[in-house]
This record gives sequence, C-alpha cells and structure tokens, in this order.
Amino acid sequence: MTEDRNKQKPSTQETENPKRLSPEEFLTTSPLFVTVKTEEFKVPDRIAFHCSGECKATTDWFLVYSETPLGSGASRGTPPDETIKSVAYHCFRCRKMTLTVVYREIGKEERPVATVPSSFSRGFKVPTIPVLTDVMKVGQFPAPRIVIPQKLEKNLGEDAVELYRKAMICRNSGFGLAAVGYMRRIVEDKTNELIEVAAAFAEAHHVKSETVAKMRKAIDADKYTPYETKLKIAGSVFPKNLRVGDVNPLDLLFRYVSKGLHGLSELECIAIADEIRTVFTYVFENLQAEISDRRRFVDTVNKLSKSK
Ligand SMILES: [Zn+2]
Repeated sequence: MTEDRNKQKPSTQETENPKRLSPEEFLTTSPLFVTVKTEEFKVPDRIAFHCSGECKATTDWFLVYSETPLGSGASRGTPPDETIKSVAYHCFRCRKMTLTVVYREIGKEERPVATVPSSFSRGFKVPTIPVLTDVMKVGQFPAPRIVIPQKLEKNLGEDAVELYRKAMICRNSGFGLAAVGYMRRIVEDKTNELIEVAAAFAEAHHVKSETVAKMRKAIDADKYTPYETKLKIAGSVFPKNLRVGDVNPLDLLFRYVSKGLHGLSELECIAIADEIRTVFTYVFENLQAEISDRRRFVDTVNKLSKSK
C-alpha cells in the first residue's frame, strides 16, 4: 500500500502554536520535528545567520540552490516523498561556510487570488489558490549552535550552565517539555542559593537558631516545600534592582515554566522557552554578582562580630 504523505495530517499538538514565523526565522531558528506556521513559506534569497567559521558573527547568507525535493536527481523514478525538500545557503563574507536545511511541506491554506471590494463581491465567489504555510524542519547541517551569552555563562555557575546547555539542546531538537524542565530546575536551584544567603544573613543578625533552621529546611530536597514558601524566604534577599515594581522575576519565570510542564504541548513549551529567555538571561546574568556581594557582607559582619 502506498502511503499518501501529502494527505498526512499534522497532530493536534503540532498545530497549537499560534505564532507565525517568517521563512527566515523558520530556517534559522526553528527546532527540528515540530510543525511551524508561517504567513507564507517562500524560500528567501538571502538570510541573516551566525557564521561559526572564521567570521564568528551574524552575516548575510545567499541561497545556493532553490528548494529541491530530496532524491529528485536520482535516475530511478520519482522521489518517494516530494514534500521533503532541501535548501542551502552560503556565507557571503567568508564564502566558506554552508548551511543546509531539510524541511517537509506540511500544509497549505486557501487564499483568495485578489482582494475584491465588498460592494462588488455580492454573489461573486473570489477564486482561491493554495499557499504553503505549514512546514517542519527535519534536518540541519551544521547542527544548531548552542549560544550561551558570555556574561550568563560566567555568572550562572558550572552546574546551571550545564543544565541550560541541555535545555537549549532539547529546545533545538523539538523537546520543549524537557527544555522547560531544565529551566525550572535552574530557577529552583538559584532560589535555593538565595535561601542559603538569607539564612546566613539571618544568622549574622543573631536571629534565633530555630528560625534559621526553619529557613534552611525549605531547601532540604527530602522535604517538599511549595515554591511560594521558598520564594518568600528567598525574596528577602532578592536584589531590589532586579525587581520590576512588585514583581519578583523568579516568580514569573517559575510560573511560566511550570505552566509548560503541567499541560502544554512540546511546541507551546518551546514558545515559552523562547519567550522567557530574555528575562532569564537578564536575571541570571546579574543575580550571581548580587548573591556574592551579600555573601561577602555576611562574612564581614560575622568576622567583625567575632572579633569584638
Ligand atoms: Zn562566514
């Protein structure tokens, strides 16, 4: 039995993401194996893309060949799936690096061929044409780079950098749920670090030892503590300059990634991972320096009080 792949419908999960990407965004940023909606997918002649060769910068890339069904040059019959196509781009600056993307045409939308004023359209049916809108990336070479901003890498700490790298690998492979899971773990770990700072701060201020012990209990991995409770303790030492009004961005990040984990599709989780990346980067680029400052302060207070 021959499978008619053109009629194969994408799963419900794949169609849930409402955001439409431009063809350039699809080619350069889309993860693998998720159906992406575009306004209209036409292969662009030129794209902006990071050249990981000698350019080490975002450069202009030009189309080497237009979209071609895989296997179309073969001598034996037609390709088994003509909807799987490839395109390639060349870095215009160094002329050494090539980006090849393999994608599958998933779905088309019927669009009117022309806009007809309503006064003329009565009784007149405007003809439509199918326009390619839904596409899925099924391959990319070289593999997508994992970009961790330098300041973030420096401030996140070794363990968290590894988790963040894994989050990005998952994101690029279409595993959105796993990506937000790794991001949530970073938010929780950093909240725990803040709780430890808050406890040390309390100790330095001669707060009762039972109260300090209670604070530290919140980071005990064997005991469940709701994130709201953790955040309340961590919030006491969370830098004011990283807050936006009354909003603690850790709360915002935690709520977003948790929403993804508790019921959104892979694609929606990828959208969350992409959306929160700016807040995530800003908070964690700056939080570590503030934590270190407070730690130094606590150490100094402790030292001074002992030498009295
Ligand atoms: Zn280049």
